Amino acid sequence: SNAPVITLDGPGGAGKGTVSMRLAQALGWHLLDSGALYRLVGLAAEHHGVALDNEQALSVLAEHLDVQFLTGKDDLVQVMLEGENVSHELRTERVGGLASQVAALNGVREALLSRQRDFADLPGLICDGRDMGTVVFPNAPLKIYLTASADERARRRLEQLRSKGVAAKLCDLKNDILERDERDMSRSTAPLKPAEDALQLDSTLLSIDQVVEQILAEAKSRG
Ligand code: C5P
Repeated sequence: SNAPVITLDGPGGAGKGTVSMRLAQALGWHLLDSGALYRLVGLAAEHHGVALDNEQALSVLAEHLDVQFLTGKDDLVQVMLEGENVSHELRTERVGGLASQVAALNGVREALLSRQRDFADLPGLICDGRDMGTVVFPNAPLKIYLTASADERARRRLEQLRSKGVAAKLCDLKNDILERDERDMSRSTAPLKPAEDALQLDSTLLSIDQVVEQILAEAKSRG
């Protein structure tokens, strides 16, 4: 596909999810939440009782993932795994942890590659992940690496959870975040790092609006 692609990579809690959604809305482009695919593999493994270190079986699971993304009238996407609505469960910290374990396996990443590339379609694609600019869409004309301090990311997670009525402790969240960063950055396959040609944005002191505006301005200036 010759559709334009904007990649957003970075650690968890930096605001990529919200920013990506806003960019896709503003531009009328497609959206790929690649983390959801790794979360789905983790969840499917749990459902089928597959061990999180069984690379062979997990790769097969990833290759044949039976998933549907249904867009409702309110633009909210419902995620169906094997016919079951898993939208809420998918966002939990527990499933995020499962995702980062299966994401360390090369076979799983390979199995998800073409599924991710299939999202690139006109008029364009916004994609959110860890290796969008480095591995999945290395030729994307605009690559963003979005970060924020670990304290700020933990604080945002806490707010997000509280707004959903989920109790959590800031220190636990910060520990989870640091543990997941460590695993994502140190793995041998597709580690989390900025692409050489990525524009690095630190969102610690910026609002979502400010981040979205900066990226839209950058996209515009590059035509
Ligand atoms: O972004 P999200 O929190 O949904 O991602 C969950 C986990 O999936 C990450 O911690 C990371 O280990 C993995 N992931 C990845 N590559 C991506 C997206 C997510 O390895 N492109």
